[in-house]
Amino acid sequence: MLTTMSIVFGTFIGSFLNVCICRLPRGESIVTPRSHCPHCQKMIGWYDNIPILSYLVLRGKCRGCKAPISLQYPLVEAVTGLFSLLLMLRFGPSPDYLFYFAFVAALIVITVIDLYHQIIPDVISLPGIGVGLLGSLLLPDLVFLNSLIGMFLGGGSLFLVATGYQWLFKREGMGGGDVKLLAMIGAFLGWRAVILTILLSSLIGSVTGILIILLKGKDFKYAIPYGPFLSLGAVFCLFYGEAIIRWYFSLNR
Ligand SMILES: [Zn+2]
Repeated sequence: MLTTMSIVFGTFIGSFLNVCICRLPRGESIVTPRSHCPHCQKMIGWYDNIPILSYLVLRGKCRGCKAPISLQYPLVEAVTGLFSLLLMLRFGPSPDYLFYFAFVAALIVITVIDLYHQIIPDVISLPGIGVGLLGSLLLPDLVFLNSLIGMFLGGGSLFLVATGYQWLFKREGMGGGDVKLLAMIGAFLGWRAVILTILLSSLIGSVTGILIILLKGKDFKYAIPYGPFLSLGAVFCLFYGEAIIRWYFSLNR
């Protein structure tokens, strides 16, 4: 019952995340107006706005004008529902579940917006840093100092990399958005996870970069947004970070 509820809850939040993904980059309100078809502007009824199911029933087309609905909608809803379930299985119905679900939801919005627009909106990363620090202060299992160091280590290390890169190559390689994103990840997960996230995201990023160059013949100047890799690395840390760190230290004993 709890697992089903967490999936349903997750997909509805995913539906809201879709609204954020579409409207935040344009500076529009995420509350009003009600959802409408971007093609024919017709208002979408609640019965056509049910996560995943409506997309399937409508076969991916607007009821009014039959314009195709982006696959982004059901995908984001499904991914958010899946993570809601995984976090519920991990943390149970607890404040920790809500805390980490908010974190993953923010990462999903950031990832999709970064893929589309190559920007990471401050309206998500900056409040995210605040929520991460506040959560570490309120939740009994977390240590505030760990979050604080994580925030400074995350923001500081990428800031140095970005500044160094710009000085060396005279062009911007990494945006300020990535700096604030890693500061947010540090605030939520602590300083060890920052190091692990950097390692994991560089690894996933390099493999993907090499694949793109091999498959598409693009050169290294082709900028790949780094935010999605940081987000992937952070989610991996959230679920497996402690296990990896424990394993690492057991090797070095
Ligand atoms: Zn339409």
